[in-house]
Amino acid sequence: MRRVYLDHSATTPVDPEVADLMMTYYTEKYGNPSSVHSFGREAKQALEEARRQVAELIGAAPSEITFTSGGTEADNLAILGTAEALRQKGKHIITSAVEHHAVLETCEYLEKNGFALTIIPVDDEGIISVEAIKEAIRPDTILITIMHANNEVGSIQPIAEIGKLAKEHGITFHVDAVQSCGKIPINVQKMNVDLLTVSSHKIYGPKGVGALYIRKGVRVVPLVHGGGQEKKRRSGTENTPGIIGFGKACELASQRMAQDAQQQIKLRDKLMNGILQKIDFVKINGPRGEKRLPNNVNVSIQFVEGESLLLSLDMLGIAASSGSACTSGSLDPSHVLLAMGLVHEIAHGSLRFTLGRQNTEDDIDYVLEQLPRIVERLRMMSPLYDKAIHAPKAQ
Ligand SMILES: *Cc1c(COP(=O)(O)O)cnc(C)c1O
Repeated sequence: MRRVYLDHSATTPVDPEVADLMMTYYTEKYGNPSSVHSFGREAKQALEEARRQVAELIGAAPSEITFTSGGTEADNLAILGTAEALRQKGKHIITSAVEHHAVLETCEYLEKNGFALTIIPVDDEGIISVEAIKEAIRPDTILITIMHANNEVGSIQPIAEIGKLAKEHGITFHVDAVQSCGKIPINVQKMNVDLLTVSSHKIYGPKGVGALYIRKGVRVVPLVHGGGQEKKRRSGTENTPGIIGFGKACELASQRMAQDAQQQIKLRDKLMNGILQKIDFVKINGPRGEKRLPNNVNVSIQFVEGESLLLSLDMLGIAASSGSACTSGSLDPSHVLLAMGLVHEIAHGSLRFTLGRQNTEDDIDYVLEQLPRIVERLRMMSPLYDKAIHAPKAQ
């Protein structure tokens, strides 16, 4: 059966070049980078090369990169580490309603433990207002944490403007850039970011590796204590093969970013326009054009359940997602779509397709051939749809 993977925001395949390089560091160059002998030294050298590659992709200095077990840990380190470092200064944190759970849940954990939290709403395209953040700032605000690009609807936030605001007020600014990294340019200097999260497995690197950029001079209290690796910011023997793979994936991402974006925008728009053309009662969620990630399509299809759509697509070999991978399986509609003002029943019928390097026009044609049929079949069972199509047309 034909298989079409359109869930690259959940995870990506490891690039073969990355996998090959990693293998060497499992079987031949397996030294512990803290060891002083030649085995240790060659691992250490490769680790530092990876640090340089990650730093380069986001406009940072290598010394500002701390490797972690992934995006989730980097988000936790940024938020909990800042809260711990600055608790004498203040206890107010600002975030947004559309953050990834790794950020939202961490902020809510702090709220349960004596911190104050302001959650900024978004508009109907999933974009945060800089003005709303400005109004939320208090004398005791210590941290603003806002994602760069949203994992569900692909909306891109005005990070540079928020960065400027945070800097003016002397507030630490953390950005979850897991979805934007490698897809659109990032520069921590130009964007005035103090802390920035990236993850390897969303950019064709291995799972279980990520990094936190920590601007020089910004203090973050570590979560993991032990041998003092990563300049005492994250103890534990480094996942050397994983980190080296992540570094290579970053290098490939910077080389391919423009080309990938161009290709994916073409496929993205073909898929969006095709769906709008072939299916009635549909709505595109998230912004159009510049403010949207090149690889994201999110649609609400009225009178059908997202989960039924996913299962039917899966039976035809098409892998998509309804909301985020972490929320599918639960019956709650996406917090992101609800924050954008979608009503429950519309949010329930939502699908996310996220494109990747290997997708082709043929893949999109296949989806555009199968999806309308699935929708039609599922809608045959919906009395609401029956009513809607037989309703008299508004004048
Ligand atoms: C995937 C993702 C994370 C979590 O990263 P992991 O490496 O899977 O822990 C955090 N934030 C966003 C926006 C993500 O898409």
